Formats: sequence, structure tokens, C-alpha cells
Amino acid sequence: MNKNNDYSIVLKDVLNHATNFLNKLDHDNVCATKSLEKLREDLKKPLKSKGELAESVINELVKDVDGGLLGSTGGRFFAWVIGGAVPAALAADWLTSTWDQNAALYACSPAEAIIEEVVGEWLKKLLGLPEQASFAITTGCQMSHFTCLAAARNHLLKKHSWDVEVKGLIGAPRIHILTNSQLHASVERAVRFLGLGSECIKPLELNEAGQLKSESLRAALEEVKGEPVIVQLCAGDINTGMYDNFEEIIPLAHSYNAWVHVDGAFGLWANVSDKYKHLLKGVEYADSWATDGHKWLNVPYDCGYAFIKNNKAHKASMSLRASYLTHADEARDQFDWNPEWSRRGRGVSTYAAIRQLGTEGIASLVERCCKYAHDLVIGIGRLRGAVVIWEPQINQGLIRFVHPELNFTEDENDVFTDMMIERINASGKLFIGGTTWNGKRCMRISVCSWQTDEEDINISLKAVEEVLNNVILETKLSKSIDSSML
Ligand SMILES: *Cc1c(COP(=O)(O)O)cnc(C)c1O
Repeated sequence: MNKNNDYSIVLKDVLNHATNFLNKLDHDNVCATKSLEKLREDLKKPLKSKGELAESVINELVKDVDGGLLGSTGGRFFAWVIGGAVPAALAADWLTSTWDQNAALYACSPAEAIIEEVVGEWLKKLLGLPEQASFAITTGCQMSHFTCLAAARNHLLKKHSWDVEVKGLIGAPRIHILTNSQLHASVERAVRFLGLGSECIKPLELNEAGQLKSESLRAALEEVKGEPVIVQLCAGDINTGMYDNFEEIIPLAHSYNAWVHVDGAFGLWANVSDKYKHLLKGVEYADSWATDGHKWLNVPYDCGYAFIKNNKAHKASMSLRASYLTHADEARDQFDWNPEWSRRGRGVSTYAAIRQLGTEGIASLVERCCKYAHDLVIGIGRLRGAVVIWEPQINQGLIRFVHPELNFTEDENDVFTDMMIERINASGKLFIGGTTWNGKRCMRISVCSWQTDEEDINISLKAVEEVLNNVILETKLSKSIDSSML
């Protein structure tokens, strides 16, 4: 291959492709329109011995993925919990790749190490977490759980005179994890990665608000008294946006010497809003917190944050010394706090997002998402055949579809709901997800993008109404419903 130092042709093409993609988001299909077979056919090129021109590779790539991408960075994507990307964060992400630094150590990229220092301080202020907490910028909340729980494992076992970093887990005292039964599966996976095994997780009873019940926690803590315990709490459940009662639960957990970890993938961001921060009252008393940049802060994938009060345990669980590494005395080596070895300058896009938005902009983003989630769920709930199952308290809500004329069983309305989700997504106007909540199928709505506005909500409401009328009619004609209709 010829070495060609002129990047300008391919990068100019990319600028065009990128702006075309972003400008189309508002009126293009939100769903993918290309079939699995066609995607394979288009993308599965023969592995060639001769290389190609950079610009031909890129131009063809753009053509081949067209129809296979979702409009998840636009304003009418409400499935899962997926944020968009604010312009400064996207641009900073491009530069991060351009600079191509290894943000492992201060010595590998002094500027990016300092950016992460600054970002860590800003994030703790924004999220209302203790100033002395250590932090790590990870690939996402899942890896933040991993990082936080590695520190917890180190600390809890050390108190039982067991150095897990040296001895491993075989023969170690068992760690118990007591949790809200709505636990996000990413915690379970982190627990598995840490060798603790999913069996150590004990889901506990909830109160009427869906929060961990203090009496059930107290009883469970009594049962394992004196043994290493992690109490796993939730700040923003994926279905309902529920928050555990931190003020009540954390002191209780601490009275039994438990480590308290909080999953706040998106919910921790409510702290930036005066209107919603009360939900997080007392969360600062926990021992570790995991959250995301790529959800509510609208930083491009992938970006998560871990914060740990006991910075000694954090460092002990992550850092390592090798003869060829150059460690900084006065600056922060990311390597000491992160699970990765080599890594991209993951703090840069966060730095840019926070500066572009400012604290007011982040608060406004959070409040807008909550308002639009509410408008959308309540608006759909007014339609004949739709029932609000969970009115959004923050940015998450649930709808179930119940046939207004045919006397469907719950099972049939499950299929009816899934059919609605599928048809709504196929309309290309908006994209939503499904979930099973309290044993019933529901449509789940999450508003998490800075792009969503009034017009997006109106377009979405109109589209749902149209689809609902069609599906009601279709099922009336066939007089029955089963999963073959999906
Ligand atoms: C998204 C999410 C996670 C997982 O986060 P990733 O960034 O995908 O690793 C964990 N918990 C909750 C509540 C979430 O919404």
C-alpha cells in the first residue's frame, strides 16, 4: 500500500456523509429498512489481496450501511435508553480518533490525562457526589459496575484479612449482594466477570413504590451479619425511572458495614435539575456510583463513569506496575483507575459536551426529556385502545394496548401490544421498545435525546394513532389474534 499522507480527500467526503446523515434524521425512517440478507450481501465483500483507495472504501461503506442504521441519534427514538450526541461532543469524538492517543498514562498523552482530571471534577459536581471520590471513565455503565464492584470486593475481603488481588477468590469468604428485585442485568454480568457468581445476588421484596423495602433489607442483613455484603441500589429503573429511598436505606446498610453501590446509568443525571434532584436525596452517602455519558449527557458511544468513595480500594483493585511503563508523580494516570490497558481518550467528548451545554443546558436537557416523555405517554394514553401503565416521573413510561372492542384475554393483549410495537416501528416515524412489566407486555418509552422537541412528539402521537386504528381494524376483521400475526 502506498503511504499517502494526504487525508484531506477522504475526510472531506466524510464531512459530507456525516452532515447528510445528520440532516436526514428529521425526515428519514427511524427504523432500519434493509433486510438482514441484503446487509450481508452488500457488506460481505471478498477479502482482497489488493487494497483500495481510502475514499472508495468510505464512499462504498456509506452506501452499503444505508438502510441498516437506526435513527437513534435523532429526536424520535424512544427505545431502550439511548441518547443522541450533542454537536461539540460528536466533533470532539472525531478529534479523539484523529489525535489517536493512548489515554492510558499521563506520559502517553498529557493533554488527555488532564482533560480526564477536569472531567472527573466536573462530573462529581454535576452529579452531587463527594469531592474526594475517585473516578474512572469507562466504556459504559456495565464496565462502571465492574470497576466499582472490583473496589468493593477488594475492600470487603481485605476487612476479612483476604487480599483478593493476590489470592483470588478460591477459599475467600463469600460476598453477598442484596438488591432491589428490578436489578438491571448489567450488574449481574459485572458480578459474573468478577468471579462472584450470580448466585450471590439476593433480590429482595419491594414496597408499593417499587423501592427496596427497608424491613426486607434489614432481615436479609441480619441473616448474613458479619459476612461481606454489598447492597445494590437503583437510581432510575429502566421501566419506571424508580429511585430507591437512599436516605433511609444507605444508613441502614452502613449500620451492617455493607458497601452500597448505586446503578444510576441515566437516573443520576436528575441531580442537575432543581425540579428532580430531590429523587436523589441521600445518594451521596453511598460507596460507589455507576453512570453513563452516552445516555443522558448525549455523548457519542461509548462512555460511562464510575465513582468510588474509597479511592484506596479503587486503586488497589485496578493499578499495576510494569517495568516499561512511565508513571506520573503529579498527574493522574488513568491506568491506575481503569480496567483497560490501552484506551482511547474517552474524556474528550465528555469535556466538550459539558462545555457546550453548561450546567443550565444539561438541566434543560434533562427537564425537556422528562416533559416530552410525559407528553408522549399521556398523549398515547388518551387514544382508544391504549392504557397508561406507568406515568413518567422522569423520562421513562409504560403503555399497554388493550383491544377496545374485542374481549381479548391478557395473553391476547400481550400479542396486541407486541403487534403495536412492531407496527409503530415499521412506520418509520418513531421507534419504541417493549418490556414485560408485572407479567404483562408493555410498550416502553424513554426520552433521552437533546434533539427531541414538541414537533417530534406531535409527529409521534399522530403516527401512533394511525397505527392503532389500523391494528384495531385488522384484528377486528380477523376476529382473533395470535403471535403468527407479528
Ligand atoms: C443502560 C443501563 C445499564 C447498562 O449501561 P451500559 O452503558 O449499556 O453498559 C445499566 N443500568 C441501567 C439502569 C441502564 O439503563
